[in-house]
Amino acid sequence: MPAELIDGRAIAKKIRADVAERVKKLAESGVKPGLAVILVGDDPASAVYVAAKGRATEEAGMYSLTMRLEADTSQSELLAHVDALNDDPRIHGILVQMPLPKQIDPDFVIRSVDPNKDVDGFHPINVGKMLVGERDGFIPCTPAGIQVLLKECGVETPGKHCVIIGRSNIVGKPMAALMMQNTTDANCTVTVCHSRTKDLREHTRSADILIVAAGRSGIVTGNMVKKGAVVIDVGTNRVKDEKSKTGTRLEGDVDFESVRKVASLISPVPGGVGPMTIAMLMANTVRAAELSLSLR
Ligand code: NAP
Repeated sequence: MPAELIDGRAIAKKIRADVAERVKKLAESGVKPGLAVILVGDDPASAVYVAAKGRATEEAGMYSLTMRLEADTSQSELLAHVDALNDDPRIHGILVQMPLPKQIDPDFVIRSVDPNKDVDGFHPINVGKMLVGERDGFIPCTPAGIQVLLKECGVETPGKHCVIIGRSNIVGKPMAALMMQNTTDANCTVTVCHSRTKDLREHTRSADILIVAAGRSGIVTGNMVKKGAVVIDVGTNRVKDEKSKTGTRLEGDVDFESVRKVASLISPVPGGVGPMTIAMLMANTVRAAELSLSLR
């Protein structure tokens, strides 16, 4: 039997409905959650992501502020904007869209966001909290969304071998930190693979849960997957497709057709992890607004 598909859109819809309820509740206390997104430059893919985030924020009944800055904006100018947003009571979440132009150090910018407004979960304080298992910080949206997908699909994680391909600060590392925690939705034995890993297949073949975030089309094929494994495809690769109107289409890192024959559950691209990332951003923003009440 081919693997069942994980319906990321349906699960994200549930998360967004819960966010909308919490937004209504906050309104009773006179609080409207606000998310500010800063885009520096005119990278087309980033512009699409930023627009989608703005739309989702408004749809959730929250205040959305999108700041578009010129590609030659200096680091100090950008930091001045972040500082102003840190002090702005209308704003509960701040996100600076990556990648940034060369003249700006992304690590410096990440550290300049107030950790209480860091809805991306990239500030070292929030990363540290996640690693030590404190749940009062913010967890990066993509790994947090994957953990929700697994839970919603009834995947039992304790004692399972979770293999992650990729060790970025955005996906791979936080994913590993989450899956190794001593919690009922984790408790996995975790292996992290990267470009220097020898014999990738040897590791992936032993995975009960395989999470692929390499940004390489077709890096995982059916013969690299254990029968019955759960496969989460994080990759978003734009590839040429003459049959498509735009001449391109989005595909994941996993060779879907061959992997589907051996896995028990698989997340498609598009419609798997992607919708969850935005839904978790909304959930982090509403949480930031709820926390702001307790900080008053
Ligand atoms: P990244 O920063 O480029 O990291 C890619 C990781 O994959 C690196 O750790 C790299 O190893 C590893 N890698 C590359 N080639 C490999 C190979 N042949 N074998 C084993 N490991 C390999 O990318 P990212 O930001 O984590 O994103 C990964 C993918 O997920 C991208 O396609 C991105 O677009 C997508 N993504 C999707 C969402 C979503 O919401 N759907 C969100 C975030 C990212 P080294 O460290 O050794 O270089």
